[in-house]
Amino acid sequence: MQKPSGSSFDYNYKELGFCAGLEIHAQLQSERKLFCHCPPNLVPSTAQSDYHFERFFRPVLGELGDFDAGMLVEFEKHYRVIYETYGDNICTYEMDETPPFPPCLDTIDKGFLLARFLNCESPVNEIIFNRKQYLDGSITTGFQRTTIIARDGFINFQNKKIRINNVLIEEDAARRVDFHDRASRTVYYNLDRLGIPLTEIITNHEDCHDPTALMQIGLLLGLGLRVLGIAKRGIGSVRQDVNISITGGSRVELKGIQEISDLQQYCDHEITRQLALLKLMKKLKTKGVKKSDFQANYIDVSSAITDLNKSELALAVRLPKCKGIFLEEIQPGKLFSEELFDRIELITGLPMYEMSQSDTPRQWLDSTRVREILNLQQDDSYVVVRGSQKSVIHALSRTIERMKKALDGVPEETRRFNPKTFNSEFLRVIHGKDRMYSDTDTPPVSISVDYTHILPENITPPWDLIEKLPISVRELIYIEKANLYPEFSYIVQKDPESCRKMLGLIQHASHYIKKHNLTKTDNCDEYKKLFLDLISYKVSRDNFEEILIEINRTGTYDPKSRRLDKVFIDDELYRRIQVVIADSEKQMNNITLDRLFGILKTHFPMLSSEQIHSTLVKEGKIGAR
Ligand SMILES: [Zn+2]
Repeated sequence: MQKPSGSSFDYNYKELGFCAGLEIHAQLQSERKLFCHCPPNLVPSTAQSDYHFERFFRPVLGELGDFDAGMLVEFEKHYRVIYETYGDNICTYEMDETPPFPPCLDTIDKGFLLARFLNCESPVNEIIFNRKQYLDGSITTGFQRTTIIARDGFINFQNKKIRINNVLIEEDAARRVDFHDRASRTVYYNLDRLGIPLTEIITNHEDCHDPTALMQIGLLLGLGLRVLGIAKRGIGSVRQDVNISITGGSRVELKGIQEISDLQQYCDHEITRQLALLKLMKKLKTKGVKKSDFQANYIDVSSAITDLNKSELALAVRLPKCKGIFLEEIQPGKLFSEELFDRIELITGLPMYEMSQSDTPRQWLDSTRVREILNLQQDDSYVVVRGSQKSVIHALSRTIERMKKALDGVPEETRRFNPKTFNSEFLRVIHGKDRMYSDTDTPPVSISVDYTHILPENITPPWDLIEKLPISVRELIYIEKANLYPEFSYIVQKDPESCRKMLGLIQHASHYIKKHNLTKTDNCDEYKKLFLDLISYKVSRDNFEEILIEINRTGTYDPKSRRLDKVFIDDELYRRIQVVIADSEKQMNNITLDRLFGILKTHFPMLSSEQIHSTLVKEGKIGAR
């Protein structure tokens, strides 16, 4: 299918009751992994694995003595998991052969720093790790160790508060290296990523009501993590999941966003899916279809199959009054038949081409014969599955289950985005509370530090800058990429009106540096100082390029040698002088004229004494000579 270009949907999100939240996972900078002392680094893609081992998974009871429904579905998939290991980055902890070492406290500190940054009101006073079950094989223990750091935060966005439900610290999972064939039920993981410290930020699903805002919030939170200096950079270091719902639909969790700028498309395709499933539900109900119409009666239709192997059989289920249902388009280019079979393939491992439905029967069956055996009316449908008896019954029981759910509209589930089509496919049933239980290996860690004063000075969170200044998220990201966010944040806090000018200077400098390949200025302190000097008129913009070259050559520059004897006092400079005069008078009662003169001389070294004098006259501080 062609990738749709642009937004062709034009949905009224408000009318639809669109709600969306984000789950942002970001790897944290650290010296070691969260529960062992291995380096938190990924091996290069060319690395050869030292050895591998194999595991199968089964669920365990939750704290209240129940299995999590989602976990049981995961168990049904019955994956065989092969782990590839690499000497330097993996020890016996990642292999689940030893209990965890004490958690990396430096990482925990970063969690609290982030919680403060996100205005969280209730940081915990004790770190207690829990186990969150994972049966997809991505964690060798079958669970992820995770702890809550704080709750009830918020960021400002478009004059509203976007609530942050939770800030968590957890271990990253292993990365899947190869998975082409669902039917083989084998997955391969590289263990290097397992155990890298991760933070998870969860925004409140009720607070965002259109995809553009959702994208901006995602970008802002990602930027916030970077300017705070706690998050790792690079591909895969930040991953986002989205929760989406519309009125009458259900909350669906979507994973696998690669480009956050594609979020609008993903949201529109999910809205399309939920609307289509609601329409389908209405249609079935209008026809009088009830859940009890879908019975788990598996009828042998092997005699209607053309090329059945000896080890195979074919069974069918009746779907009364469902004619045409499989041809309903659920997402662009994706019919209900695919929506159904896709799910069954993932759960049972039986390939989709072994399943058929009555609206467009496959070539390997005689549809008239199947209808005869099932004794169907004109308006009735069927699903036929072929294969081993066990897998066929499994697939058909899942078919019945999904058909019943069609009468509820949209099932709550976790789905995976397909970046080629912007559609999504079933991944798993949404997990409930029974997925979590406490980790008995790690004792609680008391938190006694006063975390109220740990925020770095001079770094204003990007969401606060956006609210106050005439600047966009993309422009702030640009500034951060130029490694000048702290300087920018410091300057605009003192002088908000310099915002656009500062941005212009940074853009100019970045282009100039790129054009003339002045690579040594990159992340150099003198380069950062230059912007402070430019904005405070310690050096003139006329010398800007020359200074960049000098910094690249010598690693330093001398502002004094750059002063100009005669600087034109423009409106902005004049305004800055006024600010300095007013500030000085506020700080010192009865400030002497000499003192004021001296202060102005220090602040504006490029001004001549005559210029300072005439400004003071103009301001009425001294009479004209
Ligand atoms: Zn280790």
